[in-house]
Amino acid sequence: MSHEVMGQAKPLSWRPVTELSALSAVPSGARDAVLKFYFGPMDCGKSTLALQMNYNHGRQGRRGLVLTKHDRSGGPKVTSRIGLGLEAIEVEDSVDLVRLVTAHDRIDYLICDEACFYTVEQIEQLADLVDGHGVDVYAFGLASDFRSVMFPAAQRLFELADEVCRLQVEVLCWCGRPGQLNARIVGGAMARTGEQVVIGDTDAAHVRYQVLCRRHHRAGQLGEGALSPLEAGPGAPGRL
Ligand SMILES: [Zn+2]
Repeated sequence: MSHEVMGQAKPLSWRPVTELSALSAVPSGARDAVLKFYFGPMDCGKSTLALQMNYNHGRQGRRGLVLTKHDRSGGPKVTSRIGLGLEAIEVEDSVDLVRLVTAHDRIDYLICDEACFYTVEQIEQLADLVDGHGVDVYAFGLASDFRSVMFPAAQRLFELADEVCRLQVEVLCWCGRPGQLNARIVGGAMARTGEQVVIGDTDAAHVRYQVLCRRHHRAGQLGEGALSPLEAGPGAPGRL
C-alpha cells in the first residue's frame, strides 16, 4: 500500500491505525453504530423517552424493533406512566437477539426497554449487533435494584456502552432531594433482602416501590406518611 500525503484529497478508505493521526480524515459515511444506555429510577421517564426515540427514528425512514421485558402493562408492550404505549417484542430469557434481528429484512436500530431485566448474554448480543451488524441500540432501564445493587444486565451495559446517560426528570425523594434509588416496601417496611425481581404495586401485591434519595435509601427512612407516586395516583404496577 502506497503512502498517501496527509491532506490530499483521495478516495477514503480505512488505513492501518499506524497511519492515522489526529489530523487524518475519517472516512465519511463510515459512522459506527452505537450502544447507548439510558438509566434512572422508576418514574423518571425512561419508557416515554424510549417511545419518543422510536418515533423520531421511524420518521427518518429508519427501521427498528421495540423490545421490552416485564413491562408495567404485563403484556408485550412498552407503556409509559403518562399514557403512551406501543406493541413490543417480549424478551424471554431464551431469545437470541442476534437471531431475532437478523431474521428481519433490514433493521437499523433497536429500542430496548427494561434492559436491566435482560440476561447478561443478551447484552453481549446487543454489542454483537452494534459491532457486527451496524445496528444502533438504545437501551433503557434501571441501574440498581431495591438494595441499590446493580442489576447484572445494567452492569454489563455500563461496561460495554459507548454512552451512558442518567435520566433525571425530577423524581424527588420525600425530602425534596433528587430520587436516585428504588426502595422495596414490604408490609410498610423497607426490605433489604429478597429476590432481585419482584413485581409490586399491583392491586393484589403487598409489595410496593418508592424512589428515595441516596441518604434516605441508606438510612431506610421512608418519610412520615409518604406516599409513593404510585399510591398518589391511579396505580401502574412497578417492576423491581
Ligand atoms: Zn431523601
